[in-house]
Amino acid sequence: MARAEFEGGGVGFEASEPVGAYRFAVANPPTVTYFLSSADVSGMWPLGHAAGAYLLTSVGAEREWLPDPDATSVAFVLLASQLPDLIDKPFAWFIPVLPAGRSFGHSLFLIAPLCVLVIVVARRLGRAGLGLAVALALCSHLALDVLPALWGRSAWRYLLWPVLEVEGYNSPPSIVAMFENSLDDPWFYAEFVLAGLAFVRWRSDGWPGLPRPRASGEPSAD
Ligand SMILES: [Zn+2]
Repeated sequence: MARAEFEGGGVGFEASEPVGAYRFAVANPPTVTYFLSSADVSGMWPLGHAAGAYLLTSVGAEREWLPDPDATSVAFVLLASQLPDLIDKPFAWFIPVLPAGRSFGHSLFLIAPLCVLVIVVARRLGRAGLGLAVALALCSHLALDVLPALWGRSAWRYLLWPVLEVEGYNSPPSIVAMFENSLDDPWFYAEFVLAGLAFVRWRSDGWPGLPRPRASGEPSAD
């Protein structure tokens, strides 16, 4: 990663892909400008990933491709929907062994075999439908992250990491700065639409994953 001096004495790190690159300015001196490579540009936040994966599970169940969502499948699907970020963000930003917040965990070289493994193991355990739901949740994470690449707000090279290089950034990013950058990205607002749709489906599915409310007239346990 190239370290660069900027006008006004700022110091930063240049991203290799200028398209979609973000610049963060820290106001207090010394003025430091960070360039967040497009491999790290925020697309979906955890809410959007969770909602997208749940929608797939719910619609898949309605079409009878997948089993009806229950507490177990909701837990696994939600975990899978966050997994790429749970792998990459900590190990790129805080324990820097990965090059970017989208690299190993967002690479098809990990996710594709992982999906196959999940499907095979689940099938052996007699939960083929659950395996498929989890695999779809993993794929939905990549799909939701990469879609903004179509209008230049994200990158896609991480899908093929390490065959294609990605560049991240050299210090833990400010979550607040990332949030502020998201505010002028229409994709950020799409996740609230997804969340609303997922909420409606979750309700019509009978709130799987939540303790079942006692139906009126049902005898009390005590
Ligand atoms: Zn991600």
